[in-house]
Amino acid sequence: MHNQTLCVHSGTYHDEQTGGVNTPIFTSSSFGYLDRDDIAYPRYFNTPNQQAVVRKLCSLEGAEDGVLLSSGMAAISSSVLAFAGAGDHVVLLSELYGGTHGFATDMFEHLGISYTFVATSAGAVAEAVTPATKVILIESPTNPLLGIIDIARVAQIGREHDIVTIIDNTFATPLNQQPLALGIDVVVHSGTKYLGGHSDLCCGVALTSSLRAESIRNVARSLGGSLNASSCYLLERSLKTLSVRVERQTQNAARIAGWLAKLDAIRKVNYPGLSDSPGHAVAQTQMKGFGAMLSFELADNIPPDTFLRRLNLISPAVSLGGVETLICSPAETSHAGLPAEERCRIGISDSLLRLSVGIENADDLIADIEQALQG
Ligand SMILES: *Cc1c(COP(=O)(O)O)cnc(C)c1O
Repeated sequence: MHNQTLCVHSGTYHDEQTGGVNTPIFTSSSFGYLDRDDIAYPRYFNTPNQQAVVRKLCSLEGAEDGVLLSSGMAAISSSVLAFAGAGDHVVLLSELYGGTHGFATDMFEHLGISYTFVATSAGAVAEAVTPATKVILIESPTNPLLGIIDIARVAQIGREHDIVTIIDNTFATPLNQQPLALGIDVVVHSGTKYLGGHSDLCCGVALTSSLRAESIRNVARSLGGSLNASSCYLLERSLKTLSVRVERQTQNAARIAGWLAKLDAIRKVNYPGLSDSPGHAVAQTQMKGFGAMLSFELADNIPPDTFLRRLNLISPAVSLGGVETLICSPAETSHAGLPAEERCRIGISDSLLRLSVGIENADDLIADIEQALQG
């Protein structure tokens, strides 16, 4: 079946007692154990509400099994630590999400894991691999520059060297990109973003083979980032509309990116759907749609702070992927923790703004940006 159908139907717990069409919320954290193979417990990641969401997400990403966690970072940390430990080496993109970047710089040394940050290219990943490399961690599109990496080539590098490849697929969503089909081993998401979609949930998921899911679950049991039943249900409800949200958001983003690219007030637009974007050709081979995230640099005569304060409809706020359009300055938010010279080296200038496009009417969004640019 197609993803639009799976969003609505797959994974639902069938309530035979009442015939209700939705998964009931099982509030218990304690479950009987006599005559059962499996002891259910929220932190064992096996309660009915957790399992219903995992089944739906597995069907969307084409995974055998998965682990649903309390944040995207819980999914990323549990997945990396399931496959890399003391003495091992990890290759990661320097353009990764700020929190993931921080996980490596703050924690890896402490854990005895060595690591190499590389540019967003499969060639750079291949060069950084050593005999000790156990994990390659990538994102595509990247945050906030929307860089694209050839996912199938990275998967191939992993297979050749027996390295587990992990991709953070948050920006693309399973509707626009399915990395497991391209050969990647583990897909992680910050469910806080598109999967939740309404800026009211914090959760994450790792989706992979049955064997690898078991390894991730074992680590996650110790780290303890489980998700409660009410949040699971909210996420399950959100996922039913994932395809309609992401389709509209992607259409809106393409419109806005094309419009921005023609303006003198905008120095540069980063969006893989633009035909002159550096990642466009590769993105076309691996994405079904180019996603709803974009970033742009204002011309020198428009101070970013003034522009942000003039917006009426679009909210300057952190996070992304919700039904409402949000804008932020990565230098002041997601990447504020990086030293200024590192930001500059990566290409994140102070005039760069990241737009998470929502489901509103694109003309209204364009009108808001237009009036804020004119002042
Ligand atoms: C937000 C985000 C994360 C972290 O997710 P949390 O749910 O905040 O822990 C990881 N990766 C990407 C790409 C993100 O946007």
